Amino acid sequence: MTLTQFKRNPDTNTFHLEFDNGFKAELTAEKLRNNCPCAECSGEEVLLYKYAPAKLKDLIAESYQLEKAQMVGNYAIQLFWKDGHNTGLYNWDYLKDLALQNIDTHNS
Ligand SMILES: [Zn+2]
Repeated sequence: MTLTQFKRNPDTNTFHLEFDNGFKAELTAEKLRNNCPCAECSGEEVLLYKYAPAKLKDLIAESYQLEKAQMVGNYAIQLFWKDGHNTGLYNWDYLKDLALQNIDTHNS
């Protein structure tokens, strides 16, 4: 599975993702940033699929504005936020899990 599209809708600050296996997802900037997988945001423990909340007190409006996104190899995307934070590498499985978590939230 590889990410083939990562497009931002500037009106809603939402990202449209498409993968080569046909999986499509919508993720808000808020969702992405609040679930930043980097060690600084997610804590000392390194656990796959751990959804520890970000340190919300450190987040400002610019924290939810994406400066740029960069592919890392063929397994992840690195997001550069306008507050200078850029250590989060979002791998495909993590993005997919975040998206599916979105769907669960909407259904409940
Ligand atoms: Zn982070």
